[in-house]
Amino acid sequence: MTTYDVVVVGGRVAGASTALLLARAGVRVAVVERTAPGRDTVSTHALMRAGVLQLTKWGILDSVVAAGTPPVRHTTFSYPDGEQTQVSIRAGHGVEALFAPRRTLLDRLLLDAAADAGADVISRATVLGLERDAGRRIRGVTAQSTPGSSYRLEADLTVGADGLRSVVAQQVGAPVVRQGRSASAVLYRYVRGLGTTGYEWVYGRRAGAGLIPTNDGETCVFASTTPAVMRRLRRLGSEETYLHLLEESRPGLAARIRGGTGWSRMRGWRGTPGHVRRPFGPGWALVGDAAYYKDPITAHGITDALRDAELLADAAVVTLGGGPDAGSALPAYQETRDRLSRQLWDVTEEVATYAWDADRARTLLRAVSASMSDEVDHLAGLPRAAPPELAGSALARPDNQAVRR
Ligand SMILES: Cc1cc2nc3c(=O)[nH]c(=O)nc-3n(C[C@H](O)[C@H](O)[C@H](O)COP(=O)(O)OP(=O)(O)OC[C@H]3O[C@@H](n4cnc5c(N)ncnc54)[C@H](O)[C@@H]3O)c2cc1C
Repeated sequence: MTTYDVVVVGGRVAGASTALLLARAGVRVAVVERTAPGRDTVSTHALMRAGVLQLTKWGILDSVVAAGTPPVRHTTFSYPDGEQTQVSIRAGHGVEALFAPRRTLLDRLLLDAAADAGADVISRATVLGLERDAGRRIRGVTAQSTPGSSYRLEADLTVGADGLRSVVAQQVGAPVVRQGRSASAVLYRYVRGLGTTGYEWVYGRRAGAGLIPTNDGETCVFASTTPAVMRRLRRLGSEETYLHLLEESRPGLAARIRGGTGWSRMRGWRGTPGHVRRPFGPGWALVGDAAYYKDPITAHGITDALRDAELLADAAVVTLGGGPDAGSALPAYQETRDRLSRQLWDVTEEVATYAWDADRARTLLRAVSASMSDEVDHLAGLPRAAPPELAGSALARPDNQAVRR
């Protein structure tokens, strides 16, 4: 059995970031991830300003840029009445552009940074269950790297960063404090040769679309609608459905996408309503989609994960320190998360009904923008995380295992 201060289950944007920040704070942390580093996942990649701010603060953005991720300096909104408006990304808080890095890149950079900071990164390992003490407090996990041989990782705090269908949330019975009702079903693919330079968000007739420039000269192009409409349309086949939804989003969009020079295979997402869970309890905490999942139509889940990783890591350090604020740090994490999320949650719920007209879509998007400003202001006001060159300096602990890959 190996003993840590914190074991993080799940090593993508939420888990890798949490482990990175904890390791930089001198906490003994392991992160257990089922997949191999750099493995792809479902995503359309768009980071919002708060997400870019986090990567900048943590010293990760330079690597995102160095990998050729194109900067996004403007966003175009297209409405059901045909109006299109373009908004420039204002520089502020050290953020001059947005980025949409492929998850094969971003998740790997975060996991590598966590390992560099001193976290034990245990990849290709699955957490099978949670360990409890006699008082039923969570005390770590049982994991498995090869079939038939399991091992225990003991920890004062076990963090579930294991996504939408979180095993940690299920096993601790984390209460759902908000349950969403609406959902988007999505078809997306990567298209070459579109020459896209900014984000394009398209609001059409019971359908939406987005064009998101990502790595390697590709644009991630999604089309979305309600799960019920998608199920009806899918009888046409995914190609026809995709083109139909693009055209319903904005006349002429399907032809524009067909004019690309290369198309990846189609990927899909059936859609599932959002949830907000209480993110802590005796010996456990949740972060990322495990704690708070909302529909991807407002493209904010990665940004939420990067934001909440810092809120949770700060709270965990205080909790583990055992000082006078130890008992209030995790409740404060929940309170701040909820305050920063409430407006965007409500707006996302409505956008994902696909029942807007042009005026309502404009109103909703103004509300999205306002809620994002509050979030950026909050994160910009937090104390700066340790710069990467100092990372790990507090971590020369003799009992830390070598990083396992
Ligand atoms: C179609 C779609 C498009 C999206 N587009 C965007 C977008 O443009 N912008 C944006 O910001 N967000 C977007 N999102 C949301 C975003 O992808 C998620 O919010 C984000 O991935 C959440 O990160 P996470 O680290 O919490 O969870 P995940 O990315 O789900 O990672 C969880 C990890 O936990 C691991 N895991 C699970 N169980 C175990 C276990 N038992 N043992 C070990 N490891 C385990 C999994 O292997 C996984 O790697 C989109 C989502 C969807 C569905």
